[in-house]
Amino acid sequence: MQGDIAVFKFGGASVKDAASIRNVSSIISAYDKKLVIVISAMGKMTNALEKVTDSYLNSNTDLEQHLSQVTEQHEQVAEQLDLNIDHIRKLLKSHINQASSVLNQSHENNPLLVYDQIVSLGELFSTTIISEYLRSDNHKAYWLDVRKVMKTDNTYREGRVDVDGVASSINEVIRELLPLHDVIITQGFLGMTSDGYTTTLGREGSDYTAAILGYALNVKDITIWKDVPGILSADPKKFSEVSKIPKLSYNEAIEMTYYGAKVIHPKTIQPIQNRNIKLHVKSFQDISETGTVISDVGMSEYPPIITVQDKISLIQIFTKDFTFIAEEHLSLIFSTINELRIKLRIMRNAAVNFSIAIITPDEDTLDSFVDKLGDNFRFQITKNLEIITVRHHYKSIIDSLVNGRTILLQETMQDTIQMVVSSPD
Ligand code: ASP
Ligand code: MG
Repeated sequence: MQGDIAVFKFGGASVKDAASIRNVSSIISAYDKKLVIVISAMGKMTNALEKVTDSYLNSNTDLEQHLSQVTEQHEQVAEQLDLNIDHIRKLLKSHINQASSVLNQSHENNPLLVYDQIVSLGELFSTTIISEYLRSDNHKAYWLDVRKVMKTDNTYREGRVDVDGVASSINEVIRELLPLHDVIITQGFLGMTSDGYTTTLGREGSDYTAAILGYALNVKDITIWKDVPGILSADPKKFSEVSKIPKLSYNEAIEMTYYGAKVIHPKTIQPIQNRNIKLHVKSFQDISETGTVISDVGMSEYPPIITVQDKISLIQIFTKDFTFIAEEHLSLIFSTINELRIKLRIMRNAAVNFSIAIITPDEDTLDSFVDKLGDNFRFQITKNLEIITVRHHYKSIIDSLVNGRTILLQETMQDTIQMVVSSPD
């Protein structure tokens, strides 16, 4: 175990403007350790870049033009941080040029590839500005291009990392840099294929990056800095009785994130659990608050923990000839789910139908699901639903949560109840 290095992750909300970036610098100053810092795109920039990707895909004009507004917003922040703006412009431009040249060479006509080349600019821009600012604020900061070490397959928009395969080179590269620097700044969410194309790891994937780096460096602690005091028992925007959970076991955290708790990315837990790394979720607004610690030690008794996952569709799949749903039917259905990368959350087998609650995919995916299985099955699809999951539940809380809405599917296990319900409008 290495207690000499810690990994921090700052998400979009914690670097959204010049004041927030100054705050990041002061948090760093409060720690003596060598820090490896994973940073997301500045708040809302990933969404803005998704729009840029759409407009780029819809016309053949120069990428730089489509990006002008996003670039300007970053330059403004750099100006507010009193950075040398010509220098920053040059750095941002070099990232744009790199993305453009990849797009110009690539004749693959793959919108997912295009998405990753463009959306990745959010993290490249934010880390560039932040590392320049940290240097101007007397930190010995090094800007590391994470794509050098975070090798992925070519599943664009959801690049898959062979964590053990990349760990030793991450460890080598970072440990060589550390003697000369106090802070290594790098991008969350990004990776690169063996052919040199940029990939992204899936929306909100920066937490996962931090977990992989922590795993590779074998650190004791990773801290995710957020705009909440820690992990809460429910989303305070949706529920009134919410409490902070001081300690969560890895298993509890996996369950929560899998069922839609937005506070950390679901893939984050596995690497840290394998190395028994403590994951702290703390508020960047008040660093003296203890936050939540995720480790192998949970609480002896948890409060009811509620997560709500929206954008759910329920697909009821019926055999066309009214035969019973048999294993061969299930095999067909599952291979199609797998092929189309549909995210399945709950399923239920009945005599002549099989129901699945899935995260609603885009229209094309849903159409091809129906097409591919249409010879054997007919479908009833209900969109715009939610899955409410309650762990450590008790009856009164369930009634108040459902609040008169129709429960379309329900599953109760020892410690968990899940309900597919219509969305509140
Ligand atoms: N910027 C990316 C996103 O918003 C990755 C992240 O924030 O974790 O999805
Ligand atoms: Mg983000």
